Amino acid sequence: MGICRVWRVDCRYREIGMEHKQDIVIIGAGMVGAALACAVAPSGLKITLVDTRPPPQISDTEFDLRVSAITRASQNIFSALDAWDFMEQKRVSPFYEMRVWDSQGNGHIHFNVAEIGEDTLGWIVENSIIQNALLDRVSHFENVELIYPERITDFVVNDDVVSIELASGKKLQSNLLIGADGADSTVRKLAGISTRGWSYDQQGLVCTVRTSGYHNEMVQQVFLPTGPLAFLPIGDHTCSIVWSLSGDSAERLSSLDDEEFLKELQSAFGDSLGTMLEVGPRAVFPLRLQHSMEYVQPRVALVGDAAHAIHPLAGQGVNLGLADAASLADVLLDALDQKRDIGAIQVLRKFERWRKGDNLTMMATMDGFKRLFGSQLAPVTGLRNLGLSLANNLTPLKNMIMRRAMGLEGDLAKLARPRY
Ligand SMILES: Cc1cc2nc3c(=O)[nH]c(=O)nc-3n(C[C@H](O)[C@H](O)[C@H](O)COP(=O)(O)OP(=O)(O)OC[C@H]3O[C@@H](n4cnc5c(N)ncnc54)[C@H](O)[C@@H]3O)c2cc1C
Repeated sequence: MGICRVWRVDCRYREIGMEHKQDIVIIGAGMVGAALACAVAPSGLKITLVDTRPPPQISDTEFDLRVSAITRASQNIFSALDAWDFMEQKRVSPFYEMRVWDSQGNGHIHFNVAEIGEDTLGWIVENSIIQNALLDRVSHFENVELIYPERITDFVVNDDVVSIELASGKKLQSNLLIGADGADSTVRKLAGISTRGWSYDQQGLVCTVRTSGYHNEMVQQVFLPTGPLAFLPIGDHTCSIVWSLSGDSAERLSSLDDEEFLKELQSAFGDSLGTMLEVGPRAVFPLRLQHSMEYVQPRVALVGDAAHAIHPLAGQGVNLGLADAASLADVLLDALDQKRDIGAIQVLRKFERWRKGDNLTMMATMDGFKRLFGSQLAPVTGLRNLGLSLANNLTPLKNMIMRRAMGLEGDLAKLARPRY
């Protein structure tokens, strides 16, 4: 593979010829790719962002189907990038409490922000709003260009340049190529980077639900024998739900009419939000655990879901990706200060060492939770109910879990640090 790549490099490099050289080409202008572009743009580096799709529309009347629970650390990043005001002016929903319980017993845990002296546990924000806010910031920088609809079809690396081919036939030359193109990353595949992981044989069914009861700005999640079901508050008496189900169940529930669907949802979740009144369009997404064996190669780096995808049960996926973006920005800006080559493998390895451990820890924790709550064996259900109730009464442990879930622990990148 290595030899083949070198051979292709030599031929292709001559074929492509020298064109105007970029400093960084980012494939994927989703939440993570757009955040990275914003974070590096003030340096003046020439950056090209490429995406297959135009920026998503924001509707004033309908909620986006895709939403994210945003941690304090990610909100720090958005604030530092001057993107948070845009999001607040559109729609963001803070939450102050979180309740998690096991449907197979009476174990439960309740987190309240008042216990840790912060002002909120996090925010639920529609993905389209996050992406638009970041791309709006990107548009203020003359040194950043966004190209869409366009896709990468190939790239080759030479000593001091990566030559990139796009589907339209356009060719780019850059010091560094970044794959922020999601879990099915083309950049990762073209780089020959393999992944480890497995499909959960589950789909995440998402939709917006209106309930008679008020959510009290609290995230609620029940672990059902079939998988977790979460209610995330996004509007007055309105929540976005993520329901993890087997493929067959997801298909069946997606095809029910609204009334039947609401009946099943009510019976699965119970009455804590009153009656389920109305449901919007439904969509399903495959759930998997996937980790790239490498995050970097000479002149190539992967960030966000391109490098790691996890189960959404703790709403951490995009938060890990934003931490990648902020950390890679730190590493690249430091390299620039030291007049080092930003595509050099020694520079990029620093980013990989920084992020891989954190990402692996979060992935292993989420996978453990998924398995623990997926088991129907009586000793396991008994122990996990006991564990939840014990944890609920252990204030220091609860505080530690809350601070970790808010992204405030560990080695934070500059953009993610609190500003007092
Ligand atoms: C049901 C569900 C619920 C979730 N809830 C949460 C949550 O509450 N909190 C949380 O933190 N995370 C959550 N996640 C995870 C989160 O959605 C992802 O981690 C996040 O979207 C990853 O962002 P990204 O920018 O890395 O990739 P993506 O969002 O996948 O963006 C990739 C971008 O690359 C573009 N692209 C793809 N291929 C190409 C190509 N070949 N050329 C050019 N462009 C390309 C795409 O158009 C897209 O714009 C959830 C995931 C699921 C499935």
